[in-house]
Amino acid sequence: MVCQLTRTDLLESSTQLVREMVEPGNRFVGYIYPHIPVEIFLAHGVTPSLIRAESKQRGGFEDSLQTFACSLTRNLIAQRAGDRLLLDGIVFPGNTCDSLQNLGDVWRYRFPKDRVFRLTYPVATPDEATVEYFAEELRQLSNWLQESFDVPLLHDRLDASSCLVIAYRKALQYLYAARVYNPLLLSYSRLADLVGDFLSAPSEDTLATTEEVADAVQNEVSEMGAVDTVRSIHEALIRGSLDSLDSELDHSRKRIVVTGGMIEPRVFANLTDELNESAGADVILDLFSYGYKTTFTPPPASGGDPFLRVAESILRAPLEPTQEGLPQRKQFLEDVLMKLSADGLIVCEQSFCDPDEFEGPSLGRAGKDADIPVVRIPIDPELSDRARIETRIQTFLESVNLEV
Ligand code: SF4
Repeated sequence: MVCQLTRTDLLESSTQLVREMVEPGNRFVGYIYPHIPVEIFLAHGVTPSLIRAESKQRGGFEDSLQTFACSLTRNLIAQRAGDRLLLDGIVFPGNTCDSLQNLGDVWRYRFPKDRVFRLTYPVATPDEATVEYFAEELRQLSNWLQESFDVPLLHDRLDASSCLVIAYRKALQYLYAARVYNPLLLSYSRLADLVGDFLSAPSEDTLATTEEVADAVQNEVSEMGAVDTVRSIHEALIRGSLDSLDSELDHSRKRIVVTGGMIEPRVFANLTDELNESAGADVILDLFSYGYKTTFTPPPASGGDPFLRVAESILRAPLEPTQEGLPQRKQFLEDVLMKLSADGLIVCEQSFCDPDEFEGPSLGRAGKDADIPVVRIPIDPELSDRARIETRIQTFLESVNLEV
């Protein structure tokens, strides 16, 4: 899996291989936990597609789920019970949180004909043993995909799929970096839509749209004379270390950082776009699992066992609240707030999410330590109390604007 293709090469070489994989009529396997091996699914001719919470679907009480299941898992099982999911299979994560573990168990019991695979993640921070363990899990996943869909893993397909995923993340990472420099270059909702497309249907077509947007933003950055600044932000975000960053950033409007776990950037953008406009503030960076954390997954190394390479890439993604490493996550957030000149911090928490609620106070303290206003906002996937959430965000943005 040596990815030395230019963008044009990539599109040409992957045309035959990848296009056939993602055309309508092909198979879709749903997933919930964001760190999945996209390239392995595509190499089996299957499109991995994030299962999102539906705002029209009321989660309600599901007597087979545990009492304190989070609102996201309640919403998902309610969608399945209402036959609203059109999928050919589903992958549940193991070892992430109790709610997902319980959801996977109940799902198998309630819907025994569904194709279900459990991909179990190591909790510990990555080392040689955890990478080897997870590579074996990926091998089992590949076997399951082959048995389920009768498509073997072909190495030329894996190469093409890997290049597609790398190109996708590269374009999205650039857009994240450019917005940190100046969020007026691209609205947060547009970025959230592009990330959402990657999570729903990573394909040559959706990649082309993302690259067009990245090219347009790149031209604007060039006209602003900010190529080097954006490059240094981009490189710092990829390294996951902002220590050496000392860039001049746009400060014409207030700069808001938003953090949290399994919150969709689209959902948050939908809540804030109009408010940002009137409040003179912009989200400059999200640190969500479905946003920054999946976008900044490093590319697999080249050569050697493909499962080991993909395992290492996934495990080296920015750490999740479901993993060890809270001190590192808090430190990174402190660096983000200081080095990226944040004026305010919003900590989003999925309702009844234990990992978010455990992590929230520490993240909030990072904002206090940076001496900027902080607000913690519980968000349920149905946005059943949308008016209250919007009011809280609006009040917060107004208070940020009053700060000198
Ligand atoms: S929102 Fe929280 S509790 Fe629910 S599935 Fe995600 S990590 Fe688990």
